[in-house]
Amino acid sequence: MKTLLKNAKIYVEKGVYAQALYQEDGWIKFVGSDEDAKAFEAGADRVIDCGKKTVIPGFNNNHSHPLMVAEFKSYCDLYGAESIDEIVERGKAFLAQMEHPERGMRCTGWNVNFFTSGEKRPPNRYDLDRISTEIPIVAQDAAEHETVCNSKAMEVVGFTKDSPDVDGGVIWRDENGEPLGNFAENAQAVVKPAVPVPDMADIEKGFREVMQELLKCGYTSVQANDAGITKTPAEVYECLHRMRREDSLLVRYHTQNCYENMNDLKAYIAGEYAHGVYDDYLSRGPLKLFKDGTIGSRSALLDRDWADDPGNRGQSVNSNEKLLALSKLAQENGMQIICHCIGNQAITDLVDIYEQVQPAPGNPLRNVVNHCQLMTMPLIDRMADLNITAAVQPIFLNSDLHALATRVDDDFGRTSNAYRTMLEKGIPMSFGTDSPVEGYDALAVIYSAVTRKDLKGYPPEGYYPGECLDVETAVDCFTIGSAYQQFMEDRKGRLKPGFFADLCVLSEDIFTVEPDRIKDIVSVLTMVDGKIRYEA
Ligand SMILES: [Zn+2]
Repeated sequence: MKTLLKNAKIYVEKGVYAQALYQEDGWIKFVGSDEDAKAFEAGADRVIDCGKKTVIPGFNNNHSHPLMVAEFKSYCDLYGAESIDEIVERGKAFLAQMEHPERGMRCTGWNVNFFTSGEKRPPNRYDLDRISTEIPIVAQDAAEHETVCNSKAMEVVGFTKDSPDVDGGVIWRDENGEPLGNFAENAQAVVKPAVPVPDMADIEKGFREVMQELLKCGYTSVQANDAGITKTPAEVYECLHRMRREDSLLVRYHTQNCYENMNDLKAYIAGEYAHGVYDDYLSRGPLKLFKDGTIGSRSALLDRDWADDPGNRGQSVNSNEKLLALSKLAQENGMQIICHCIGNQAITDLVDIYEQVQPAPGNPLRNVVNHCQLMTMPLIDRMADLNITAAVQPIFLNSDLHALATRVDDDFGRTSNAYRTMLEKGIPMSFGTDSPVEGYDALAVIYSAVTRKDLKGYPPEGYYPGECLDVETAVDCFTIGSAYQQFMEDRKGRLKPGFFADLCVLSEDIFTVEPDRIKDIVSVLTMVDGKIRYEA
């Protein structure tokens, strides 16, 4: 396939724009003026007049869980619910249309930060009992760090007042020791089996819909942590390899692989890692680890108390010894690492580990701190010195800017989520969404980084506005920055000859539009590997 795009505003790099682009079989051959592009017109299978529209490299999501998003399509969606009452109402409405209620109901997406009326606390078993006491119900929060269940679900898994607590987890109980139905971090595993998950065929069906949504948002690549999160890793790899062979994988997929014990990681290294068939389209990525929790549940690990919760410094979900052993094994096998760290103590612990295990100074395996939110200036300097990548999700500001107002003091808030300072210090940075924690809307991510407002426009001047990015920098983080994270910055993330023909044509000029309107822009055409996969 040979395609010529002309009469366009093509973003080449900061301050550099072209009018036309020509691609052959997935590779960009020419970027330049409409005049010079005439030479390619006769040989092209298709010539697209872009009507002066803006063309940028396709977005590359630094971290998300597309198969989990797919799985959640069969769940009751609680995202954006503004009260416990609304959660109950949504649950009742979902139950009324379920085909097989006897299997139980899974819900997802609740977030206390979005509550505007009633009690501002996580729902508990007694709230969910208002939906049903007949069928088991489990409901996970948007950040995937807490699961609440109803009384029937506790009965199904046999969890009682006398059941023990769980290492690395929190189980909420009332003053009499009676469990309230809230299971955080590792304790979630106790109650989730009360409702069986959909099978792989159902998830694959949902994944096909998710890929269409990704294309509409202008994505051409996802770095995806599904292996070890959704179903078994073997099922996930089988599905991905088969879809790649059938050419039904509509966006490029880069694996992030969760392994939390040494034997599983050894088996992965000896098996899939050594022998799996990968290329630039379905590519093999890093080991994925977890160190702490979230801002929403005050479980991110800090070196100080949470300002509004004295005595609480958050949660270490995996010991440093365990992470060190896993990291050492990964690095000895040339495997990059990306680890979930939100609090500054978690990030410090992880950076200590990276310093110990890297095969040479300078972070040659490009180990990544995922999320990397609550930072101090010395920690920013240290990450910059060690050349450690920060994989950030600016859309998190939509809810976190509200939570952080009371949870950290001004000094700490100022150096947290400080994208501009981090970039100026030299920290490599990539962008993403961590979906299903947030939606996949790529333009909302750019909007968040550029305006630092929530999606309703609050605060009008932006949250620590000194940290706002210009649009070109934000687009770069989400394209070439994300490509660097996967060692592909020499061929992905720019619209230049020798790079992949992965691009999207935007409905409006992202570089000149009023910043508040960036979130309303959509892709009108998305090309992956030279193939037009989506056209409005
Ligand atoms: Zn995640």
